[in-house]
Amino acid sequence: AKSDSSCSYRIFDSGIKDARAERRALEGALKAALENKELDLFYQPILDLATNQMWGCEALARWKHPTKGMISPLQFIPTAEESGLIGPMGDWILEEACTTAMTWPQPLKVAINLSPVQFRSRDVVASVRTALEISGLPAHRLVLEITESVKLTEEATAALKKLKALGVSIALDDFGTGYASMSYLSSFPFDKIKIDQSFVRNMLTSADSRAIIKATIGLAKDLNMSTTAEGVETEEQLNALRLAGASQAQGYLIAKPMSREAIASFIADVPKP
Ligand code: C2E
Ligand code: CA
Ligand code: CA
Ligand code: CA
Repeated sequence: AKSDSSCSYRIFDSGIKDARAERRALEGALKAALENKELDLFYQPILDLATNQMWGCEALARWKHPTKGMISPLQFIPTAEESGLIGPMGDWILEEACTTAMTWPQPLKVAINLSPVQFRSRDVVASVRTALEISGLPAHRLVLEITESVKLTEEATAALKKLKALGVSIALDDFGTGYASMSYLSSFPFDKIKIDQSFVRNMLTSADSRAIIKATIGLAKDLNMSTTAEGVETEEQLNALRLAGASQAQGYLIAKPMSREAIASFIADVPKP
């Protein structure tokens, strides 16, 4: 038993070392990726359900690794956050997305995801202001998406208020998946709620998901907020969301996230607001 436990201890220990080494390697590769411009943004169209026209796009980060291919943001954003790289990376994302949105027809907006770390360790207001200045994008065409993982401290709330004062809109992402959604909503006047795709995925089979979606849309209306339903993959879901009164829809049914070039031709091919 003794040799067993020392053996498992060794394995455990080397496992930790491997995980640390792996994280350091990933951090190094990510830093190089930022310098070598391997980071990229894809754009997913969002449909306005009132007009049936395009509302704009959400910018979604991608890492085009030279040998490993396309790496998902779910795999590298957490490492970027832990290492502090999300700071410069987030600034680049803001600037790149705003610059791209400037090439789109006037009414189209761009939604950009902000990490909680950008609120803690960065003057996020200065970053956004710089991106707007460099790109020339009018503030009303920019929506910033945050999740409940942004702790609404006095500082964070003050930053959000300053962003709204600039003319930027603020959306609450992944609504309904956190533990504090309701208190969160009452802490700050969000402009938009993004209904998480888990509810949309189940809405046709689960009465509970339907009830949550219906209640969320009603709540948003009473609070003067709009709603975007995420992860819309079927016509049936789209019709049900339309009936429920969602403002916008986003998902593979409308289009998958695509490159800057592909979104330009997508926009050229669809009816414009
Ligand atoms: P999110 O903000 O909730 O973004 C929506 C995710 O759902 C995207 O995944 C999108 O590709 C995916 N999606 C869209 N439509 C459908 C659909 O119909 N079905 C399914 N199954 N999925 C759909 P993606 O691009 O892998 O991004 C994952 C997450 O990574 C994002 O979730 C966001 O939290 C984070 N992320 C992405 N880009 C950035 C960024 O630039 N900065 C920060 N801080 N986080 C980002
Ligand atoms: Ca988002
Ligand atoms: Ca989301
Ligand atoms: Ca999410």
